[in-house]
Amino acid sequence: MLLAHKIELRPTPEQAIYLDKACGSKRHCFNQLLAHFSKPENKWSKSLAYQYYINVIRKEFQWYSEVSSRITRNAIDDLDNAFSHFFRRLKLKQKCGFPRFKKKAINDSFALRESAKFDCIGRELRLEKLKTRIEMRQALRFQGTTKQVTISKRAGKYFASILVETEDYNPNDNDRKQSVGVDFGIKELAVLSAGVVFAANQKLKANLKKLAKLTSTLAKKIKGSNHRAKAKLKISKLHFRIANQRQALLHELSDYLTKTFDVITIEDLNVKGMVKNRKLSRAISDAGFGTLRQLIEYKAKLRNCVVVVANRFYPSSKTCSCCGKIKENLTLAERIFACECGLCVDRDLNAALNLDKYGQDRLQPDLKCASEQSQTVDLFTASVLTV
Ligand SMILES: [Zn+2]
Repeated sequence: MLLAHKIELRPTPEQAIYLDKACGSKRHCFNQLLAHFSKPENKWSKSLAYQYYINVIRKEFQWYSEVSSRITRNAIDDLDNAFSHFFRRLKLKQKCGFPRFKKKAINDSFALRESAKFDCIGRELRLEKLKTRIEMRQALRFQGTTKQVTISKRAGKYFASILVETEDYNPNDNDRKQSVGVDFGIKELAVLSAGVVFAANQKLKANLKKLAKLTSTLAKKIKGSNHRAKAKLKISKLHFRIANQRQALLHELSDYLTKTFDVITIEDLNVKGMVKNRKLSRAISDAGFGTLRQLIEYKAKLRNCVVVVANRFYPSSKTCSCCGKIKENLTLAERIFACECGLCVDRDLNAALNLDKYGQDRLQPDLKCASEQSQTVDLFTASVLTV
């Protein structure tokens, strides 16, 4: 199994110069190749690109040799990917864009795809043609053979994403609970049938306000000035912070779910459809449901859990989790689900309980029997906790 771990780097000023040079030569080489093969008389082929790279580009730009030759050579593979993607979509008559030139400060990255060209030793990273080792913020999380490293620069910081071939990864597999239903929402990121609530990101709101303010000050700065460059970096740092806050919360939730439960039932959220609704769209994009589902699914594979995705038309909110009666006229404003049978429970918790049942119904009968007994207890003792 291949797993990637992304680690922040702490390069010295000299090492940072090397990393910048490597990003620069990779981008430059990619753009040179693209410019050549954009001309109608030059048809793209990987072997022609390689010839052009060896005979023309490398001779013309001697400074490429200051970094590992693999870094610039990788540009051929990257452009080959871009072209084959383009031609495949063209063939299928889908919307497609011709490969684009890489821009400085946006596409700052390079890769080393041969394990001999780099090494991870504890908290240090060795790269070919760099005499000193770069300090990493933490050691590699997975044990196994390192396959490739991708270095990227974002908001003035450097990161190494290291791909590792590793054995199955199953920490604390033993004392997991059987099953859970998860209701995703806007106000609360997730409500679990086990009674746990993951609150939505509150810091995000404050940061979005800050971002708007910074963007308006940027507009007043003169183009090409130092002040403008500084303001731009400040903004990209904040963007980065916001993205990290979002990611951290999603990782926390997906980690908790896959570490704690064997069977996880979630809704099939039609994210594209929901984002069209303007009122909800900001909050939904902020919550990152698409990413969340991906995270849950891949971590479930790592930790041997089953993910059940409920049918999009399954009325998880409208069904009574006690007697099964469907309440057709439930409005979004009703936060408490009250049923004729006497059940009176938080709306989202009710949905989560229904999802949990849905998941169990789709699995083997022995699991179903065992958990139905504990289910009734859970329903009335479930107190809502905030994580
Ligand atoms: Zn009922």
